Amino acid sequence: MNSFLVRYSILFALFVCLCSWGEKAHRKINSSCVEFFPKELNQLKVWAPILADHGSDADFRKKDDKTEFVKHFTDIDSYDDFNRTHRIEEDFETATLKYGNEKIKKEGTLPWTTDSTYNALVQNFKSENWDQAVLTAADLGHYVGDGFMPLHITANYDGQLSTQTGIHRRYEETMIDRNIDKVQFKPFTCKKINGVKSSIFGYLYANHSYVSLLLKADNQAYIEAGDQYSDRYYESLWMESGSFTIQLLEESSKTLAGLIYTAWLEAGKPKIPAGLGN
Ligand SMILES: [Zn+2]
Repeated sequence: MNSFLVRYSILFALFVCLCSWGEKAHRKINSSCVEFFPKELNQLKVWAPILADHGSDADFRKKDDKTEFVKHFTDIDSYDDFNRTHRIEEDFETATLKYGNEKIKKEGTLPWTTDSTYNALVQNFKSENWDQAVLTAADLGHYVGDGFMPLHITANYDGQLSTQTGIHRRYEETMIDRNIDKVQFKPFTCKKINGVKSSIFGYLYANHSYVSLLLKADNQAYIEAGDQYSDRYYESLWMESGSFTIQLLEESSKTLAGLIYTAWLEAGKPKIPAGLGN
């Protein structure tokens, strides 16, 4: 293989890996959201296995669809506005005018993608296209989940700016996969979300505070284990970050439930047919 191909292959592998929570976490976020549905959506609970099975479709699309990659992250700390005021322009047109199209693409379009996927779900409900609605909801769950993954909202997405390269995969996949059985959520009933787009930006801003906590946990685990791959390292990483990680996964599942419910309300509460999911 020539050097260009080698480099391209490594880059491609990185792109595929550094894309979201691992598959198990996305399954958990998507399938658990039905537990948070209010009674009115009882008949949509049958969606759980389909939402789980399609929880990583958005990642798989990256292989064939070049526009997909930028939809999974937003490096909000690359914006001066965020570092100064803890927010960025939320209206896409205004943001494009202010920051430029190139920058928005470079830093990733996750919040706008989440919002447009929500709007697509409203349309699916309006047209009572239930087969498509469940797939759109699965994608929505994926993008919401990515917004609750701290390394998807920072320029230091793989710890490369703090000599912690590889943290992305160590955290989202290896550590989560080792502990997925401990990820249990408490009962909760979701409510209508007022101002969907601003609530999407709101959780991104809030979740950014976990970037430094996670990097600290990685450093601590490294100090304790003396490496970044042993059982001791992963046990320590979980000790340091497990409780907020469960909280992030739980919050993303609750948010997904709230968005599905809100989309259904916004579509005029279309009657959910019996026998859905059969
Ligand atoms: Zn993703």
